Amino acid sequence: MCATKVHSHSKPSLLKSVLTNKCSHCRRGDLYQYHNPYNLKTFMKMNETCPVCGQPFEI
Ligand SMILES: [Zn+2]
Repeated sequence: MCATKVHSHSKPSLLKSVLTNKCSHCRRGDLYQYHNPYNLKTFMKMNETCPVCGQPFEI
């Protein structure tokens, strides 16, 4: 569990993080991947963990 990439300052608001599908833990990492918005198969691929803080995204 390495949290050195987490920046504790200037967090976006929780409400904004929810509306923009951001990580509820650090509110910075993206919940979904948007590698190719023109390919519907991978349009809304959900990350297994937060790319910023490593928080697992469990449904
Ligand atoms: Zn996170």
